[in-house]
Amino acid sequence: MLIVGAGITGIACARVLRTHGVPFRIINKGKKLGGRMAAKVVRDSGTEFDGRVFDIGASYFTVSDPEFQVHVQDMLDLGIVTEWTDTFHVADDTGILGVKVGPMRYSAPKGIRSVVEYLAQGLEVSEGEFEGEIDSRDVADERIALCMPTPQAAKIFPRATELNPCVWEPVIAVSMLFAEQHWQDFDGIFDNSTSAVTWIANDGSRRGDRAPALVAHVHPVLSSQHLVDPSAVIPFAVSAVAKILDFDQEPVWTSAHRWTFAKPVEGTTRSEPLFNAAPEEGVFMAGDSFSDRPRVEAGWISGTALGKHLVGTR
Ligand SMILES: Cc1cc2nc3c(=O)[nH]c(=O)nc-3n(C[C@H](O)[C@H](O)[C@H](O)COP(=O)(O)OP(=O)(O)OC[C@H]3O[C@@H](n4cnc5c(N)ncnc54)[C@H](O)[C@@H]3O)c2cc1C
Repeated sequence: MLIVGAGITGIACARVLRTHGVPFRIINKGKKLGGRMAAKVVRDSGTEFDGRVFDIGASYFTVSDPEFQVHVQDMLDLGIVTEWTDTFHVADDTGILGVKVGPMRYSAPKGIRSVVEYLAQGLEVSEGEFEGEIDSRDVADERIALCMPTPQAAKIFPRATELNPCVWEPVIAVSMLFAEQHWQDFDGIFDNSTSAVTWIANDGSRRGDRAPALVAHVHPVLSSQHLVDPSAVIPFAVSAVAKILDFDQEPVWTSAHRWTFAKPVEGTTRSEPLFNAAPEEGVFMAGDSFSDRPRVEAGWISGTALGKHLVGTR
């Protein structure tokens, strides 16, 4: 069994196979596992924060699945995750409008990637990209689980989009470090207007070190216009954030990260099936888009469900 992708979905799948003694290997593009649960390290900022990480993909996660809750409780006990907040602000391009209370959002003091690293303990992940398309004759003796965004899976297995039709949107995440905090305390701000940014995370409150650090997610439409040169969007993001938070200082360090396939658009995904397969070709697919609530926990649930299926059908 080959698992391609070591984000939370692939790791969840691998854990089930390991528990049931099913042989498998995992390959992942890039040195770091965690996929979209990713971090950016500050370098050359000229501040004490060099070496600090910013969460540049998933901002936080929520929990409703009882099995996932058990692992989250373990991580809470170990200090790998913390209960961040249940309260965010809402804003439009003129400023903050009010607050919104929701479920508990969990964050990770060492960066959200540490969640996947914890769950992957004891698993051997090889660095490597699955390149080209699957030749069905080659995979006849090896089943393949594609645990990644559908457009990435489609490069390997063109029928992926047929098995999981949904629309993906890009996000450019702009990290900003300031000399000092120029804003009132807040945790996160949703902006559902047509502003340049849709979300601002206070990375200092999220990570617990109170650093004057913000991460803004650029609106998908604006992001899609800057995929070739993500840094070009930084001035728009800084200006939108300054307007919402009502200050006029420039950051001392910025960084833009492009997520071409950041998230499936809610409303284009379905709650069932939890994974899908072309069994005749030995190809299986899992990921956060197998859910009507695509997010970290959905990846965990989908990968776990695929693992259980593979154990039962080996
Ligand atoms: C900007 C942004 C903000 C988000 N905010 C939130 C949030 O606040 N809360 C939340 O719950 N979720 C959020 N999400 C979504 C969350 O990150 C995902 O739901 C979750 O990480 C999905 O994990 P995954 O394992 O399915 O996919 P991924 O994390 O994308 O992992 C796929 C892995 O497959 C690897 N891969 C791809 N192609 C190949 C190949 N050909 N060969 C080898 N390896 C390959 C990739 O390198 C990657 O490591 C956000 C995502 C982004 C991008």
